Amino acid sequence: MTGTLIVTGGSRGIGAEIARKAGSAGYTVCLTYHSNRAAADKVVSEIEKLGGNAHAFKADVAIEADILALFKYVDENLPPLSALVNNAGILETHCSIEDMTFDRLQRVFTTNITGSFLCAREAVKRLSKKHVGNGGGIVNISSAAARLGSPHEYVDYAASKGAIDTFTIGLSKEVADQGIRVNAVRPGVIYTEIHALGGEPDRVDRVKANVPMKRGGQPEEVADAALWLLSEEASYITGALLDVSGGR
Ligand code: NAP
Repeated sequence: MTGTLIVTGGSRGIGAEIARKAGSAGYTVCLTYHSNRAAADKVVSEIEKLGGNAHAFKADVAIEADILALFKYVDENLPPLSALVNNAGILETHCSIEDMTFDRLQRVFTTNITGSFLCAREAVKRLSKKHVGNGGGIVNISSAAARLGSPHEYVDYAASKGAIDTFTIGLSKEVADQGIRVNAVRPGVIYTEIHALGGEPDRVDRVKANVPMKRGGQPEEVADAALWLLSEEASYITGALLDVSGGR
């Protein structure tokens, strides 16, 4: 693969695995992080040890100025953009609607939805054959929660991922004739640190009995799907919502 791949939230979990696999696939990887610089640097050095090319950039996807700075950094320092993975996402403590504060809703929707929209906007300006680009790919990391709704845990998070699914379908049609494919991966329960944000670090082991395959997923299994969607092997696929959820 040639060109630069940006993966937001590439310092840990699914994003870190996407960054590693993208580095091995030949992309120049620009992985972003929110605050864990040490984790981001570790992923960069792992990619470099395998002969890849990687860069870490601090950017909060809930802040437009950070996103603009990220794309400016790529424009000025790295090969032309060829792919974006909108991976950064958050959830908050398990609760029901009665306890959802305005501030929480703002944080979840701004990070998960607005952040993905703004990164996609900047990517399209660079990838589109209508502008300066040669085409490319966007993968949005959604969630099986978009189908399941996550009652009494985080319906706000689930709804934000529903928005990402609709965004994926709409944007894919908007830019299909500009050389850009837009798809989403919908992970099920995956072993990462995100579950600690909900107040239940071991959530995957609690719910895995409800998964038809009777296990949680690994970040590598999600990353493989994302890289495949970006690859030439998926050249006629756009607007797809690919479940990576063990059948759930
Ligand atoms: P994670 O382990 O909690 O890692 C989150 C990553 O996002 C970290 O790199 C973190 O950076 C970064 N991040 C957090 N807030 C950010 C912000 N405001 N701006 C920029 N970056 C930010 O999460 P994960 O489980 O890998 O989840 C990745 C994606 O998969 C998310 O969109 C999530 O909704 C989705 N997903 C996960 C699961 C699952 O079971 N794990 C299931 C379905 C969907 P720092 O390291 O600096 O904090």
